Amino acid sequence: MSEYILSKEYFVQVIRDLIVLAENRKDYFTELDSAIGDGDHGMNLSIGFREVDKHIEEWKELSVKDLYKNVGTALLDKVGGSSGPLYGSFFMKFGLPIKKKGSEEGATFSEFIEMMETGVAIIKKRGKSTTGEKTMLDTFVPAVETLRAEYEGGTSAKEAMAKAVEAGKEGLESTRNIVATKGRAMRLGERAIGHLDPGAASAAEILEVFYNDMPD
Ligand code: ADP
Ligand code: MG
Repeated sequence: MSEYILSKEYFVQVIRDLIVLAENRKDYFTELDSAIGDGDHGMNLSIGFREVDKHIEEWKELSVKDLYKNVGTALLDKVGGSSGPLYGSFFMKFGLPIKKKGSEEGATFSEFIEMMETGVAIIKKRGKSTTGEKTMLDTFVPAVETLRAEYEGGTSAKEAMAKAVEAGKEGLESTRNIVATKGRAMRLGERAIGHLDPGAASAAEILEVFYNDMPD
């Protein structure tokens, strides 16, 4: 069996689809953030990815590492709030495991797993946060853990990502029952119970884009 490779085009397509996602789901993410935050999560992502949209035709010529670094920098520079710096750092560091590759090269699936883990590790570090605090990490952490465990256990690449997306969605669902200890929802205490965390919701949909764009 030949190795499963994610092409350079895959990584460009993911960014194009994230631009569409940020636009299409703006109202939904904002609605979630209106319940337990300040109602700007959808707007924040939309502002960030509109900036990315302005540059994608130029940036798509860069290596995966540099393309994602530019996406991250745009989110970091243009988006206020906590999600800008956190998602910004995720994308900025995402390509580091393949930093030696040329502008036409993609990644092996093992490298892709490392890229995801690198991105999630930087969110933890920047956010000084972990799972169980009602944040995007409740989606990301179980997703990347499942991704590695499934792939190392012999599950095929795309199926392992499907399982990761499922684990992320379960993590998202779990945020309903968590009292926030990070982010704005902290101030609500028990009143945040029953509500999904907006960042955990956007993280789940971002992971789904990474999954949907994978070749079979
Ligand atoms: P803000 O909270 O500044 O208005 P957003 O509304 O765009 O920014 O994003 C809110 C989301 O950011 C939260 O739902 C949560 O998932 C995430 N978040 C906030 N603080 C942290 C943190 N310290 N660690 C991880 N994620 C966080
Ligand atoms: Mg907000």
